[in-house]
Amino acid sequence: MVIAANLGFPRIGARRELKTAVEAYWKGTLSEAELAAEGARLRAHHWQTQRSAGITTIPSNDFSFYDQVLDTTALLGAVPERFGPVAERVTLPQYFAMARGTDDAPAMEMTKWFDTNYHYIVPEFTNGQTFRLSSLKPVEEFLEARALGIHTRPVLLGPVSWLSLGKAKETGLGETRLDPLAFLPAILPIYADLLARLAAAGADWVQIDEPVLVTDLSPAQTRAFRSAYAALAAAGPKLMLASYFGALDDNLDLALSLPVAGLHLDLVRAPEQLAGLLAKGTDKVLSLGLVDGRNIWRTDLGRALEPAQAAVRKFGADRIQIAPSCSLLHVPVDLDAETELDAELTSWLAFAVQKLAEVATLTATLNGTDTRAALAANAAALAARRASPRIHDPKVKARSAAVTPADLRRASAFPARRAAQAARLKLPAFPTTTIGSFPQTTEVRRARADHRKGLISDAEYDAFLKRETAACIARQEALGLDLLVHGEFERNDMVEYFGEQLSGYAFTRLGWVQSYGSRCVKPPLIFGDVSRPQPMTVGWSAYASSLSDLPMKAMLTGPVTILQWSFVRDDQPRSETCRQIALAIRDEVADLEAAGLPAIQIDEPALREGLPLRRRDWDAYLGWAVDCFRLASAPVRDDTQIHTHMCYAEFNDIMPAIAALDADVISVETSRSDMELLKAFGDFAYPNEIGPGVWDIHAPRVPAVDEMVVLLRKAASVIPEDRLWVNPDCGLKTRGWPETQASLTNLVAAARRLRQGDVTPLPVEPGRSQPVACGCGAH
Ligand code: GLN
Ligand code: ZN
Repeated sequence: MVIAANLGFPRIGARRELKTAVEAYWKGTLSEAELAAEGARLRAHHWQTQRSAGITTIPSNDFSFYDQVLDTTALLGAVPERFGPVAERVTLPQYFAMARGTDDAPAMEMTKWFDTNYHYIVPEFTNGQTFRLSSLKPVEEFLEARALGIHTRPVLLGPVSWLSLGKAKETGLGETRLDPLAFLPAILPIYADLLARLAAAGADWVQIDEPVLVTDLSPAQTRAFRSAYAALAAAGPKLMLASYFGALDDNLDLALSLPVAGLHLDLVRAPEQLAGLLAKGTDKVLSLGLVDGRNIWRTDLGRALEPAQAAVRKFGADRIQIAPSCSLLHVPVDLDAETELDAELTSWLAFAVQKLAEVATLTATLNGTDTRAALAANAAALAARRASPRIHDPKVKARSAAVTPADLRRASAFPARRAAQAARLKLPAFPTTTIGSFPQTTEVRRARADHRKGLISDAEYDAFLKRETAACIARQEALGLDLLVHGEFERNDMVEYFGEQLSGYAFTRLGWVQSYGSRCVKPPLIFGDVSRPQPMTVGWSAYASSLSDLPMKAMLTGPVTILQWSFVRDDQPRSETCRQIALAIRDEVADLEAAGLPAIQIDEPALREGLPLRRRDWDAYLGWAVDCFRLASAPVRDDTQIHTHMCYAEFNDIMPAIAALDADVISVETSRSDMELLKAFGDFAYPNEIGPGVWDIHAPRVPAVDEMVVLLRKAASVIPEDRLWVNPDCGLKTRGWPETQASLTNLVAAARRLRQGDVTPLPVEPGRSQPVACGCGAH
């Protein structure tokens, strides 16, 4: 019999119940016992939901109060010293302290999980690092499910991936950086111990996730795989080794050679890899990831059946499992709960619960059950989607097809533009500006909510926003900033705001996906050809501009970021969808220029996170991503200044692409790493102007004038001083006014000190760059 399996279920709850509970616990209004009970209730509900959907191999230990990588860190007792010693087990307060920090212990770093928008807590390693089994969560949750009559397959993050995701915080002997893989021998006995305990508890299979298998592995990682799985093979339960987010490719032989009983393949991202496996043969149980765990479209069941049938013919039904491509953590919970989408759109979609039903239908078909009615309904829905006039706009397609290289080029090269912009903008040396948003106070958020609920009229809301904008401009003038912004008070989110005004976009009411910890995002859906029926931001920017004699910078979100933070249609290449968005932004840019705005910022904080997992795919991606930015920004005159902004940044390896954007000014997040990130710009001899962030906006702390001067002097050692701007790291929407006022006062004072000649360059120390999740709170 073919088995219907799942790799992981979203844990936040269809109505974000976990968020509510965890935040109440943090506030002190829910006790630890109450939080534990809510966790158990959600787990029970999720297990039962999966069983009712027809899944027989149901995961456990996919639940987490914060993050599964942090759970693994706790399991292995790798708690950094600053969070106190671990007694028998890591306590819940200790666990949350690692994730969120305390007054005296900064939180552990956080970064993106592969190419998703989920953030994990980065394991930290120091010299003399020790490990000890410090949590029995996987065993406890297995037993908890068993008590409910559900036999689960526990999920663990595998040792090689866990170590590879970690970061050494100290150098080892000599000056070489500690290699996290050196700790493999120390953690394997703990994994073995845990697997033995799971076997003793009754687990016959364990899913062990090793997503690094779809990345370019170093020889050391390859060796680590061999020794790790040799050590774990005999530990107890059978292992289902799960790869996902891409193809095993050159790591296929490695994966097949490991002594594990099963192998999971992502056949949505990399359908071609099955052919290789069919040709090679294997005696492992194969889990075929045929239902997209990363997107919200209904599966083409007819098409998914073909590879599944080929696999069954070759290996026999008993060796095949059908599953989503990866954990369903990355999609919303239940489409049936959704009220915001019309019936037609709904019929094209599948969220986690619906995806499991698809897995069950595929499995039943393979097992000979008569599923003709379900398959026919699926085929009809997909045919209707393909033919729907709502997704095809011939004008948009024609315009996109007609884009030429000339459309991607500014009229003149940077030096000529620079002179024209200097004459028009008349900015002082070391010009000061901000990244766009200003504090979204309780009043701003309340007014938005009231407007949405119909409690205040359009006119009242508009008047409120105008007052906020005007006040913000008055404040910027009083502070002495040079290039002003309108403050973005009308925007809820930097992607949603644009999506709501573009055609081809839809929004859900409950389509929440965990971003990190208790933070969830609701990515919009791009279902059709994208165009801009009318100007989106011109009114606000023009209004702001009319209030001041100082130059105003208009704010847009770039095409790559809009794409990256949405659920994207799967019926055409992402590059094509991105080009359509770029054309819409291009129209907005042209209208802003016509309205007299002398500077336009096009934010691309997500440019880097779109990088493919394999190096060899980078150039293709960067090629179209850069083209889309240029397409959006190129139509303006020489004297209109194009800015861009990036914040989640490790630029070293993509400098040529950043330079190829050809923005006149780029602002980047650099203050946390003490300007370390800026070295990439210096080494590359970045040709245009740069605003290295001098105020880390992730915390309310107000940086002193001296501190910012020192940062800028360091910046001046890598970037010629006449090309330096002075600005915060990112937008200020999550900050309060008191620290904003104080920090910007200091920022302006720092710029003035530099203008008075305090620019003796200070060298940039070879420090450690610390990319973090963007602190703007926009995503
Ligand atoms: N303009 C945006 C803001 O200031 C930029 C946010 C971001 O980079 N993520 O909020
Ligand atoms: Zn930013």
